[in-house]
Formats: sequence, C-alpha cells, structure tokens
Amino acid sequence: MTLIAKTTHHLFQPLLYQVATGILSTGEIAPSTREVLAHQRNAQVLLGEVTGIDLDAKAVTHEVLGRETVTTYDSLIVAAGAGQSWFGHDEFADHAPGMKTIDDALELRGRIFGAFELAELAPTQAERDRLLTFVVVGAGPTGVEMAGQISELAQRTLRRDFRAIDTSSARVILVDAGPAVLPSFGEDLGGRARRQLEKMGVDVRTSTKVIDVDATGIVVEDSDGERQRIEAKCKVWAAGVAASPLAGMLAEQAGVEVDRAGRIPVEPDLSLPGYPEVFVVGDMMALDNLPGVAQVAIQGARYAARTITDRLDGRQPRPAFSYRDKGSMATISRFSAVMSSGPIRLSGFLAWLAWLGLHILYIVGFKHRVTTLLHWAISFIGRGRSERAYTVQQVLGRRALQRISADEAPKLPEIAES
Ligand SMILES: Cc1cc2nc3c(=O)[nH]c(=O)nc-3n(C[C@H](O)[C@H](O)[C@H](O)COP(=O)(O)OP(=O)(O)OC[C@H]3O[C@@H](n4cnc5c(N)ncnc54)[C@H](O)[C@@H]3O)c2cc1C
Repeated sequence: MTLIAKTTHHLFQPLLYQVATGILSTGEIAPSTREVLAHQRNAQVLLGEVTGIDLDAKAVTHEVLGRETVTTYDSLIVAAGAGQSWFGHDEFADHAPGMKTIDDALELRGRIFGAFELAELAPTQAERDRLLTFVVVGAGPTGVEMAGQISELAQRTLRRDFRAIDTSSARVILVDAGPAVLPSFGEDLGGRARRQLEKMGVDVRTSTKVIDVDATGIVVEDSDGERQRIEAKCKVWAAGVAASPLAGMLAEQAGVEVDRAGRIPVEPDLSLPGYPEVFVVGDMMALDNLPGVAQVAIQGARYAARTITDRLDGRQPRPAFSYRDKGSMATISRFSAVMSSGPIRLSGFLAWLAWLGLHILYIVGFKHRVTTLLHWAISFIGRGRSERAYTVQQVLGRRALQRISADEAPKLPEIAES
C-alpha cells in the first residue's frame, strides 16, 4: 500500500480555524502521516505532488523538488480533496486568503493578530478603524466559526494587551451572498446561530455579494444592487470550493464531465466510469449530491478499501455505496454551538459539549488529545491563547511575498499603509 501525498501531515480541517486564531498548534490538528502509519508494516508513505495519472498504463507520476517518480498500481484510490474557489476571481486570494491548509491558517493567524499590532501603531483614527475591521466572506460553518473567534479575540482575549487601542471596538462583518447563515442546518438553527453572532457584536450581512477585494478593503453589493466599500485590512475567504485538478485529469481520460465544482461523477461503487480498479472518494467525487464533508470522505474511503480487499480475497462484490448521515455541527463561540443529527436539533451549551466530545475523538493520537484539551481549557475557561506566534511575513501574506523579490520587500510602514 503506497500513500502519495503532497504534505507530510494528515490534516483535520474542521479545527483549522483554531490554529488561525491561536487556540491550537499545528501539530495538534496535523500529525505526521508517516507517524500515523508507522505501525502498518505494509504501508509506505511517499512525499510528492501527483502531476499525472495514466489510467491505461496504471501509473501515477509524482514530483517533489524536481525529483519525479512514477509509481504503478493494481488498484488506485484518488482522494485529493478540494481547494478554495474565489469564483473566478483568483486575484482576490492575495488579499482574502482561504482556509484549506496549514499554510492558510498560519497566514490568517499572522493577518488577524498582525492587524491588532499594526493598529496599535497607526497614527490616524481612519487607519486604526481599517485595521480593526475584519470581514469574513461565507456564512457556512467555517465563516461562522471564524467570525465568532475573531470577535472573542477582540472582546475577550486581547482586551488587556494593548495601550493605544481598545480591541473591543473592532468590527467583525460576516458577508454571504445567500439569504441565510448556516443554510445546511435549516432555518431554525441557522437563525439561532445568526442571533448569537449578532449578540456578540458581529455585523451579519446576508444576501450581500462580494464584488471586489483589494489590499485595503472590499466592495459588496446588497440585494437592491446598492454597492458599498468597506475599509478593512484583514479579510478571510470562507466561501466556495473547487475539486482538485486531478478530477479534471481523470475525467478527460475516462470521457466524463466534471460538475460545476470540478467534481468527477463516479459509479455507485465509487469507481471511475470504465475503470473498475480506480476509485475516487471524498471532496472530489460527485455522487447523489452528497456534500463535501468528512463523513462522506471517511465512509467512502472505507468502502473503496474494503472493495479492493474483497476482490483480492475473491469475495462477492458488496452492494452499492450508501452514505449514513451522522449530522453536522458548528461552534459559534465558547460554550455555544449548533448541532443537527437526525431528528435531534440542539443549540447553545449542550450542542457545544457534544461538539467538544466529538472533536476530541477525531483528534489523531493520545498525546494530541491531551494537549488539545489543555489548550481548550486555557482558551475557553481562561481567556488565553497559547499559540499566538507568527512572523511579520505572515502579516503581509505569502502570496504577496512570493511575488516580491527580497530587495523589493516593503518595510513595516509600507505594510501598515497597505
Ligand atoms: C476549514 C474547514 C472546515 C471543515 N469543517 C468540517 C466539519 O466541521 N465537518 C465536516 O464533516 N467536514 C468539514 N470540512 C470538510 C472536510 O474537511 C472534508 O470534507 C474532508 O477533509 C475531505 O476529505 P478528502 O480526503 O476528500 O480531502 P482532504 O482532506 O482535503 O485531503 C486531500 C489530501 O490530498 C492532498 N493532495 C491534493 N492534491 C494532491 C496532489 N496533486 N498530489 C498529492 N497530494 C495531493 C492534500 O494535500 C490533502 O492532504 C471542513 C473543511 C474545511 C476546509
């Protein structure tokens, strides 16, 4: 069994927002994949970005730092997930990074905490206001969690740390083009989440589309077509996903079309049409309108793996993949969450306790569970954040830095200006 991945860690995405807001360290949500699989003697982990899959030759080409390797297979499971989509405006990414990877979370940590640092230095009220305005785009679980956490940082965690600014004057604006907050949770729970956010001071603007994003602000348009520019240094993009480009590569060879999110349609047994030995699972597969959530990925992966071992053992083919929806949950602030599972609808403290219990189960490894619980106690019972370290480069944003050569890199006053 060969696992090829372009990162060396196994990432638990649902807690990325806690890395971005200084609650958890990267190691707690992203243990080394090699370590996770160390005891599985038949598994080899190879670092590399898959750049080609030849379905006829049954070969995968992967590359790391210019070293290209070809690995052949008898059976293949493709689970390359999805990335952020800026709906055709990739230029927005420079100023409103997404939340998909550890790099994203660390960059956002730098941008969020950095905005408060720069506000402490700002010579004018207008600049302070711009630095203390945070816009989160997308009112799904990630956007709601980010907006809630930034608000808690400003209202609670950072209040005593600054002298020139009052962090509680920070504005957090949550923008979504759709009419509701947390639409997948239904009207009742979505409404409760919205009211809780508003109680925390978050300015929730639904039916509001993002028209433009630049270094110093964002332009939005409401349902009446009225446009407004919001001056804000720190923007977070939590809207829109696009499947890995590997889906398009497979679709072309298999002669099928990807859907609007770039996902590839699969057979009821999760195999690629015309290629029974190739399975596509998780966020990059399209089947029965299943959502891009962890349980779909986990259950699909188990199904594909068992289908392969059944074949090797000469067993009868198993029935078509059937997804068991275990429900969903999202936190709004400490001690407050919403949860929906079958007929059960919960909000507030009970939902938060359920969220806590479930997420600690999904943290990989005993030592990470212990340190996560400790960090949660520090942040939720106390008011501290253990993971506030970031670099000045992260304040500026890595995409911008990639484009600026070392001698052209702006000095701190210019960073503050932009
Ligand atoms: C911020 C956030 C919060 C979320 N919260 C929840 C939640 O609360 N509940 C829930 O159920 N779901 C949640 N999700 C969704 C859930 O994380 C995904 O549905 C799940 O991770 C999908 O699993 P996957 O294996 O398909 O893809 P991923 O987990 O994305 O894994 C894909 C892997 O493939 C690697 N890869 C990609 N391309 C290549 C390549 N070319 N070569 C080599 N490797 C490659 C990536 O580096 C990655 O490690 C959240 C997602 C995000 C981003």
